[in-house]
Amino acid sequence: EGLIVAVDGPGGSGKSTVARELARRLGLRYLDTGAMYRAVTQLALERRIDIEDPQAVAELAERAVLSVGTDPDEPSIAVDGVGVDAEIRTRAVTNAVSAIAAVPAVRARLVAQQRQVIAATRPGGIVVEGRDIGSVVAPDAQIKVFLTASTEVRALRRSRQLGEKGVDDVARTLAELDRRDALDSSRAADPLAVPEGAIVLDSTALSVPEVVDEVLKRCGQ
Ligand code: C5P
Repeated sequence: EGLIVAVDGPGGSGKSTVARELARRLGLRYLDTGAMYRAVTQLALERRIDIEDPQAVAELAERAVLSVGTDPDEPSIAVDGVGVDAEIRTRAVTNAVSAIAAVPAVRARLVAQQRQVIAATRPGGIVVEGRDIGSVVAPDAQIKVFLTASTEVRALRRSRQLGEKGVDDVARTLAELDRRDALDSSRAADPLAVPEGAIVLDSTALSVPEVVDEVLKRCGQ
C-alpha cells in the first residue's frame, strides 16, 4: 500500500535528477522538499523579513500556503497561489535557505505537510528527495538512497545549473556549497548524515542513468 523512496544527500550530489528519473521509471509521484524550504525563503526575502529572526520567520511560515505539484515531468511549487519555480533557484535564496531551514517551527510545519503529500499518493507511491527524508520525514520508506559526490563535482554541477561558465564562478559556488553544508550540518538537517538502511552511492564518477540503474538493481526492480 504505497511505495516510498527516500533520496537524501547534499546539494549538487545529483539528487534531483536521480529522484525524478527514479519516479518516472517506477511510475511514482515526486516531491522536492528542498523546494519547500526555498519557497519559504523566497517569501521571507520578498517581504523583507529578517531571516535571522526565528520568531518572524516562524510566523511567516505558519501563514504561508504552499502548494506542490508532484508530477516528476513537471514538478511545481506555489506560495499563496503564485508560482515561484524560477524565483526559488536564485543565488539569494540559495544563500539564505539554511537560516530558514534551521528554525524548528518551520521544519515542523513543512515536515507535517510533506507527510500529507506522501499520504495522499497512497496506494501508489512517491519518490521524496531532501536532507532528512529517510531519517525524519519517512523513516518507514521501503527504499532509502543516500547520494554523495566530491565537493568539486558538486560545485561544477551547481555552477552549470546556474548557467555559469568561468572558473571564478565555480570557485565561488564551491565556497558557498561548503558554507551551506556546514550550516546545515550544525543545525537541523545534516546533509552528511546517512539514514539507517540507506544505499550509499557516490555519483562523482557515475552518470545519472548509471546511478538510477544501480538503485533499481539494488532494490530488485
Ligand atoms: O536540496 P536543496 O539544495 O534545494 O535544499 C535547499 C536547502 O533546504 C538545504 O540547504 C537545507 O538547508 C534545506 N533542506 C532541509 N531539509 C530538507 C530539504 C532541504 O533542511 N529535507
